[in-house]
Amino acid sequence: MEFLKSINEAELSGVLFKNLNLKKNIIQFLDKHALATISEIGKELNVSTPKIISTINELIEENLLHDNGKIESTGGRRANQFKLASGSVYFMGVEVSKFHISLGLMDLNKNMLQEPSHIPFNLKNSQDSLEKLINIINDFINQSGLAKSKILRIGINLTGRINQVTGHNYNFFQFTDLPIREIIEKVTGIKTYIDNDSRAMAFAEYCSGAVEKEKNILFVNLDYGIGLGIIINGEIYYGKSGFSGEFGHNPIYDNEMICQCGKKGCLETEASGFAVLRNVQEKLKAGVGSILQRDPKKIDEITLEEIVLACNQDDILAIESVSVVGEKLGKAVASLINIFNPELVILGGLLSTTNEYIRLPIKSSLNKYSSSLVNNDTQLKTSKLGLSAGVMGACLLVRRTIFST
Ligand SMILES: [Zn+2]
Repeated sequence: MEFLKSINEAELSGVLFKNLNLKKNIIQFLDKHALATISEIGKELNVSTPKIISTINELIEENLLHDNGKIESTGGRRANQFKLASGSVYFMGVEVSKFHISLGLMDLNKNMLQEPSHIPFNLKNSQDSLEKLINIINDFINQSGLAKSKILRIGINLTGRINQVTGHNYNFFQFTDLPIREIIEKVTGIKTYIDNDSRAMAFAEYCSGAVEKEKNILFVNLDYGIGLGIIINGEIYYGKSGFSGEFGHNPIYDNEMICQCGKKGCLETEASGFAVLRNVQEKLKAGVGSILQRDPKKIDEITLEEIVLACNQDDILAIESVSVVGEKLGKAVASLINIFNPELVILGGLLSTTNEYIRLPIKSSLNKYSSSLVNNDTQLKTSKLGLSAGVMGACLLVRRTIFST
């Protein structure tokens, strides 16, 4: 049976299941090595040459593999090398953020077809917001010009507490009987998965970003809110129900500020994009000079994106606001380092695109608040993928669901 059909079958007979797994293993091997010969693949998978040849031929017929021609060699019989084909099938990633949706398509070789497109959006727990999300996804698929059968899976990142197994998001779109995953699957006809945004970003950095050989990684998502993706021994850590990583809702402040989650004193109330935004708005209203200064009636319309831009244009108010929040974040990250002893902490999300303006105060706070023995074990890097990490992570996560055995 064809690979693309068999991955959508609920149950397969023994032989079909075995064949499917062999195809997945070949794809995984080529994923790792980019190019390989029949004998290299057969040796690694411990499968006879005739079986490998027939399976590879099937994968070529399905446009999943490509014969890359003869290997360069100085003598003897030259073998053909194979690689994963581009342009045959795609994975779609959707990142739903507070004020925009980003979408993109990834091919079999993990290349994005183009930069993710950003579409303005207002994330609310409402039917209207859900319908807009559905329309944006449908429009993107239609505008891609691809047949739906070529898009194997859709991965959607959402903020909040998400059970990726059941497809439920416990913070948004909980007013319908169906989990959000099934709603999208029904309207698009494409199998869909959801996951937490910070986890997906962590996975993208792990597969294609700032991670080199490290296996124990924390990805701190610095957006309006604060999220955390945890990778332990090379595996994403979900926790019992998928709710791990709610770093921003650590109740660490004894303040009276109500958080987005409804509780008081969460980390996010003082150390987050929300906090940077609030601080800048207060200072502008008090008349502090800045390139962000404007008609007082329009100060509440300022976005975090504008502040990040001002920061990168060396605006003192923006830089100072980011720095104050960075110091507080550093103290919180110091507690994470004490708990996890990670090899690498990656700063990602919108605020991380201020680069050293956020990294340096975090770093100096880390030095101050964590023991040098533990702190010296951990590298602190800024995301390599920047604002593409979310969409790439969504694609990579659904890609993994197909090829893992
Ligand atoms: Zn909270």
